Amino acid sequence: MTTPQSTDAIPGARAAILERLSAAAKRSGRDPGAVTLVAVSKKQPDERIEAMLRAGQRVFGENRVQEAQARWAHRRAAHPDLELRLVGPLQTNKAEDAVALFDVIETVDRDKLAGALAKAMARTGRAPRLYVQVNTGEEPQKAGVSPADTPDFVARCRDAHGLQIEGLMCIPPVEEPAAPHFALLAKLAAELELERLSMGMSADYELAARLGATSVRVGSALFGERPAPGG
Ligand SMILES: *Cc1c(COP(=O)(O)O)cnc(C)c1O
Repeated sequence: MTTPQSTDAIPGARAAILERLSAAAKRSGRDPGAVTLVAVSKKQPDERIEAMLRAGQRVFGENRVQEAQARWAHRRAAHPDLELRLVGPLQTNKAEDAVALFDVIETVDRDKLAGALAKAMARTGRAPRLYVQVNTGEEPQKAGVSPADTPDFVARCRDAHGLQIEGLMCIPPVEEPAAPHFALLAKLAAELELERLSMGMSADYELAARLGATSVRVGSALFGERPAPGG
């Protein structure tokens, strides 16, 4: 897979990915605009962020609250149509900051966090859209609710915490084919009558689009490789 090496390559990389997403959606009988491209901007340098904004991208994903505040809080004024999505794990003590910044939180995965989000939403008057993260590979080190526990957890979010869950998100195990994980997430969402599916990254966003993703989270294929820490 080729990745853009300089900011000059960003508009072309974005256009190519959008084209592949609409083709993949069409091939599986879906609306060509059915899949939202979420540009995962974590660790990317400012000049690439600016180039992506100039290319017309408005939906961005971040995996850490503080890093996202530093990158995006001051850009909101210039770009009121920004949509920011949290795609990384959230600590309960950051729930209020996350609710204040993000439009979508994709990583709701435990009761303590659901309770903290409900409180933060009441305090701030903001209501980000919420997804439950599902640990489809049941990996012990990975965040997310197990597939078997997902129906009960979604119900508790609604009934015990007063939270409306809009969709499901997954990050398949790196060493396994992604298709069965995407199919499992789609099946769970259908059973729970949830409309949104966040799945697919740089290596497999077309596959995810074919299997029902409503958003894909693409970082390196869009921006170029993330700079190594300290490099
Ligand atoms: C970093 C990240 C991505 C993007 O990964 P790429 O392989 O660079 O596309 C997607 N989703 C999550 C949750 C991430 O942390």
